[in-house]
Formats: sequence, structure tokens, C-alpha cells
Amino acid sequence: MQISAAFDSGNILVKNANDPADIVLEIKKDVGEDHFQWFHFRLTGARGQELRMRLGNAAEASYPDGWHDYRACASYDRKTWFRVPTSFVDSELVIEHQPQADSVYYAYFAPYSAERHADFLASIQGQEGVELRLLGRSVDGRDLDLVVLSSPEAEHLAPPKVCWIVGRQHPGETMAEWLVEGLLERLLDGNDPVAQECRRRARFFIVPNMNPDGSVRGHLRNNAAGANLNREWQEPSQERSPEVFYTRQAMVSEGVDFFLDVHGDEALPYNFIAGAEGVPRWSVQAAERQQRYLSALAQASPDFQTEHGYPVSMPGTANLKIGCNWVAEHFGCLSMTLEQPFKDTVDRPQAQGWSPARAKCLGRAQLDALLATFELL
Ligand SMILES: [Zn+2]
Repeated sequence: MQISAAFDSGNILVKNANDPADIVLEIKKDVGEDHFQWFHFRLTGARGQELRMRLGNAAEASYPDGWHDYRACASYDRKTWFRVPTSFVDSELVIEHQPQADSVYYAYFAPYSAERHADFLASIQGQEGVELRLLGRSVDGRDLDLVVLSSPEAEHLAPPKVCWIVGRQHPGETMAEWLVEGLLERLLDGNDPVAQECRRRARFFIVPNMNPDGSVRGHLRNNAAGANLNREWQEPSQERSPEVFYTRQAMVSEGVDFFLDVHGDEALPYNFIAGAEGVPRWSVQAAERQQRYLSALAQASPDFQTEHGYPVSMPGTANLKIGCNWVAEHFGCLSMTLEQPFKDTVDRPQAQGWSPARAKCLGRAQLDALLATFELL
């Protein structure tokens, strides 16, 4: 039996793998040492054996509440991910599984690989109105990809709205990039009237993965310099947080009328949106357009709800280092953080838990909400 993690987004430390019934593992910390929770490893040579794997440092992970009612993801073919029995006992995460193949992968959530990212962008670049731009490079020298969508028709409207959607500031939240893929696919569907209308009214600037270094390195939250990108928006630097520096620079030059920052939440079993209520320039109009979006999204997707989420910030107390707050304050536009569960939705539980396919559906539903909100942007 062998356990390895020396691949794209791999993360595990093997403490003891001599006994299949008592495998001891640990999750590696992100660069910066202040976060860990993402794991992703391959186990070979144990077909048909009952495995019991203990993640010994789970209690010290960034969000220990995330382990309650959580089930780990597994895959044989690296396409289909299913959940396996998992429990959080005596401050350890225990995964139990009897693999039916020689090689099996386990992960915190279905990975979204660097290869898939590259393949997807390559596959859409030939379509009409699609422009691929490089925002700049990450700390490790990886390309920061920006997809720009415009339609010739949009130019007739004066002026088209500017919509920004970014994913994966926190690299371990892979559901964010799955969601963005679903949203982009729908925007590019020439037969979809909602997508057509959105593109007639707006130009789209989409960053599917803001943290490619953290993604490849198997981080939960930080980039390669140890920065939590969603705390870098007030003063990003080319050295410590170039990913935010270049995205913010492009936003300032193109303008922003709508900003959606896509994430995953370790603990809460819901899809929900956190707004920018605590920013100094929050207003009645800001509340109204956000309410319009939330209601329309709840209408468009039964997987989305507005009852559960983070506590709403009191006026004037927003942390402007957070992307959603900085954008709301700087541009005075509708600006939101969308959170998806690692576990599942309580209201509509499914055998596979929250999943890439469901994240993509929720991505598509964003366009229904956006279309309902355009007149207020
Ligand atoms: Zn996040």
C-alpha cells in the first residue's frame, strides 16, 4: 500500500501507513502556516481492503466545525467523485472505505485541476466575443487568466454594464471554479435567451481562478507568499499579493457595476450570499438592489437560500481588506460574496453531497438573478 500527494493540488503527510486498518495522516499547512484543511491524496495497492484513515491534526485545522457532518470525497476515475463514511472523533477525522480499485483518490472536495482550467479556457477562446487576457503573473510565475466577454450588440447600448466575477481567491474552495465554469458555459450558450440578454446588456470580466499557486500547491486559503488574498484588497502589492494587485488594477481601469466573489464555506451547510452592509457608503439603494438579486437567485435555484449565513456587519464596521467590501466601497456597486458548502445543503441533501454538477447549476442560476437586477445596477 502506498500513499502519495506529489501532484497538482496534492496535500497529505503520511505518519504511518503500515496497517490498512490504522493509517495515520496529517494535513500540511499552507505557506504562511496559519491555515490548513484541504487534503488530496492517492492511495494504491489496497483493493478490497477495509481502510481506516485518521487525519491526526484535524482538530487544529482552520475550521474544525467543518468536520462535523462532513463526508470525504473519493474517486477512482478522477471524474466522478462520491462520498465515503467519515466521522470526527477524539479530535481526529476518520475516513473509512473499502476501495474497489487498485488506485483511489481522496480529497476534501472534488478538485478542479490546473489542466482542466487550461483546457476549458482553450476550448472557449474561439467563440465569438471571447477575449482571453493575462492580468499578470502570480508569485510562482503562473498566468492569471481573465476572460472578457463582449457582444457587438452590447455596444449599441449606452453604456453596457461591467460585471466582474472572480473565483478561488481561496484555492481549496474548488467549488468556486466549478461554479464559474457553469456560469461561463451558460453565458456562451447562444441558444439561451437569458444568457443572450445578459450579454446584450453587459460586458463580463471573469477570473476563474485568482489563486493558481495555492491551487497547485494544495493550499486551503493562502497564495505562495503566505497571503490570504481576500484580506489583501486595501493594499495589495506586486510582491506579496500580485493576484489581487493586477485584478484590482484591471477593475479600476475597466470599472465595476457588479461584483460576485465566489467561495466555499467549510462549516455552514447552505448556499448563501454575504453582502457589503458594513461599508461606509452602504445605502437604501444598495440594500434594494442586493435584495433584488438574492430574491431572484432564490427563485431561480432551490439550492440557494437567504435565511442562513454570516451575521450582517453593523454600519461602518466592514473590513475593507475583503474583496467584496473594498469593491463596494470603491465603486459604489452591487458587490457580494457567494458561499457554497463543502458538506451539502440541509434543505436538499443528495447522496453525493454538494458537488461539481450542482455548483455548475448554481453558476447558471446567477444569470437569472443578474437579469432580474440589471435595471438597478
Ligand atoms: Zn473563501
